[in-house]
Amino acid sequence: MMTILAVFFLLVALLLFWQSDKKRRQTGLPGGRVVYTDTRSWGPVDRPLYDPKLRLTGKPDYLVERGGQIVPVEVKSGKAPKAPYDSHIYQLASYCLLVERMMGKRPPYGIIHYENRDFAIDYTPALEASLLEILTEMRRDERSTNVDCSHRSPARCRGCGYREICDQRLT
Ligand code: SF4
Repeated sequence: MMTILAVFFLLVALLLFWQSDKKRRQTGLPGGRVVYTDTRSWGPVDRPLYDPKLRLTGKPDYLVERGGQIVPVEVKSGKAPKAPYDSHIYQLASYCLLVERMMGKRPPYGIIHYENRDFAIDYTPALEASLLEILTEMRRDERSTNVDCSHRSPARCRGCGYREICDQRLT
């Protein structure tokens, strides 16, 4: 079961990664705002959140309860980019969506924690709609035997675990 879940997490992460550039061009994601956060208030998450209707699961690194609100936190290794990567934004948005559906409270924002900086990402209706659109596309592509590459980044291909068998790799 854990293996299946691990594969599913990986697939979701990869698909979100693949789709993110395209969605950014279409919707213009918010870049996030730099915030100070007190990590002492962060509570670890025991088990993955799961929405059977969307067949979506995910486990934020932390949940922060503050003033009756729940804010998911995703921790990324490495220094912060100028603005959070789109794939990170969508991953965080999926946690916001899961928190709302599982816990009945809509997070106003989520936090991406890099080594040297934190970004708050507002969980707006537009971001939610964009995420749901991606999930719909993912479900459609699940049934396809051929899915076109959605990016033009050789760097992604260099770090991709599928590059040996992918006939669309860019390097
Ligand atoms: S190697 Fe293929 S699957 Fe991997 S990122 Fe490149 S195009 Fe996508």
